[in-house]
Amino acid sequence: MSSNAKSPKLSNYLSGQWQEGKDDGVALFDPVTGEELRRASSTGLDIGGALNWSRTEGGKNLLAMGYSARAEMVGKIADVLAANKDKYYEISQKNLGATVGDNAFDIDGGIFTLKSYARAGKNLGNGAFLKEGAVIPLSKENKFEGQHYLMPMRGVAVFINAFNFPSWGLWEKAGPALLSGMPVFVKPATPTAWLTQEMVADVIAAGVVPAGALSIVCGGARDLLDHVNENDVVSFTGSADTARTIKSHPAVIANAVRVNIEADSVNAAILGPDATPGTPEFDFAVKEIVREMTVKAGQKCTAIRRIIVSKQNADALGQAIVAKLSTTKVGNPRNEATRMGPLVSKAQQQSAIEGIALLKTECQVLIGDTPLNLIDATADQACFIAPTLLRCDLGVKAKVANDVEVFGPVATIIPYENTADAIAIARRGRGSLVASVFSGDENFCQELIPNIADLHGRIMVVDAKVEGQQTGHGNVMPNCLHGGPGKAGGGEELGGLRALTLYHRRMVVQAGPHRTSALSSLANDAAPLFN
Ligand code: NAP
Repeated sequence: MSSNAKSPKLSNYLSGQWQEGKDDGVALFDPVTGEELRRASSTGLDIGGALNWSRTEGGKNLLAMGYSARAEMVGKIADVLAANKDKYYEISQKNLGATVGDNAFDIDGGIFTLKSYARAGKNLGNGAFLKEGAVIPLSKENKFEGQHYLMPMRGVAVFINAFNFPSWGLWEKAGPALLSGMPVFVKPATPTAWLTQEMVADVIAAGVVPAGALSIVCGGARDLLDHVNENDVVSFTGSADTARTIKSHPAVIANAVRVNIEADSVNAAILGPDATPGTPEFDFAVKEIVREMTVKAGQKCTAIRRIIVSKQNADALGQAIVAKLSTTKVGNPRNEATRMGPLVSKAQQQSAIEGIALLKTECQVLIGDTPLNLIDATADQACFIAPTLLRCDLGVKAKVANDVEVFGPVATIIPYENTADAIAIARRGRGSLVASVFSGDENFCQELIPNIADLHGRIMVVDAKVEGQQTGHGNVMPNCLHGGPGKAGGGEELGGLRALTLYHRRMVVQAGPHRTSALSSLANDAAPLFN
């Protein structure tokens, strides 16, 4: 990667001021050409003061608005971003090596999610908080009762985000947080912080959010968590290692800070025994697996990492996927022929190379071991990884294939003996964001799905009757839950208005009916959150 000391530094928006870090910071690169693009630094900035300002100024201004007014504000943010979309596509092409299709996922996906929250929140009313459920009689003569409420939290929503979704990763969290009345403080991952920073700058410049509602710090900001308290929510997306550091941070523990984690998981595609070559289920599976491996070069938290298929169909499936992957055009996204771009950085490329080497200790490579024929790019400067399909015949006993998420265009076929074996292999992933089931076999589906559902945040089931109308394995719909147990971090995001519960605290008031009804007159009904 070539270093150019003159590349501009990303400014940080803290305490209502644009501020620069006090050192040269860390360079952001073009993963195709190796050119240095920007620098990010948060050195010497008052992060504690900035969090406090967001909490007080931003919290006060947002809570004064009410839910419907905040929904309107979320819609205006989406409008600002939509008006600047071309610029974001350019930045993302440069800094992430993203193709047009990759950008649609991240940039359009972020705007779509905000619009969805603007629509859903419109009818929540302009109350100060939400009333949940009916009154609970607590005395024989109706002199004393209980009423549950959801109260917007009075702190700041701190987002520590991953490099792969600089747009969607911010806005899918910001929509529900802002709608709830919590100010947003985002720390994007350093290697791809430019796009997030540009979007935040446009929203601030457009004047569509009140003072304190939106702040950004670029660069390390490793003291960020020192300043969180019991009013705040920390929402993290990234590696399991960093997740552990965040959950065990002294301030997080001491102040019982609410933390939502979305970490790596080894998501699966599972084919029923009926998904034989020539069936729609087989064809849908091949298409989906290839798409999942190549969109964003496999750098999606939801991407298919394990392909669980009956022993009888494993060879045919491998051949069909290899046939499609071998025609995938890999290279510079500036060339319209390119279908798959690079990984975002040399560090990610190295990590993928090491992950593939690990997989090879128990898998055979079906495709991926030959040098890439790159379009308009040179391998040594760039961060490409060949689409790599492996096969592991160790089933549930596989240690690496069932455990290691290689964050790139890499997936492993793991054949199963029977339905019980397929269930055991799926569960061996120890908790995932999503599994896709390709089967129209009634017995297989009715046995498999309930037996893996507790370890998956989402299960997509595709058969011929769906007629190709499935939303896609990797497509996170704003009105459906996103998150998963165990290895996936245990977090819950989206799910429509359900997501607002992360930014509210449930509590109960026990009092006379005169008091609860007076309080309830300040509230709106929480029922739409659970519809
Ligand atoms: P990461 O290293 O865990 O970093 C994620 C975020 O945490 C970044 O903003 C990072 O900042 C920040 N961070 C790191 N250490 C921190 C600390 N001690 N305190 C506070 N913040 C800290 O993840 P990554 O670099 O984005 O990706 C690495 C791996 O994570 C990938 O290879 C992949 O396996 C996994 N991943 C998972 C998902 C998912 O959604 N499940 C998404 C992306 C990546 P800096 O960038 O400044 O270090």
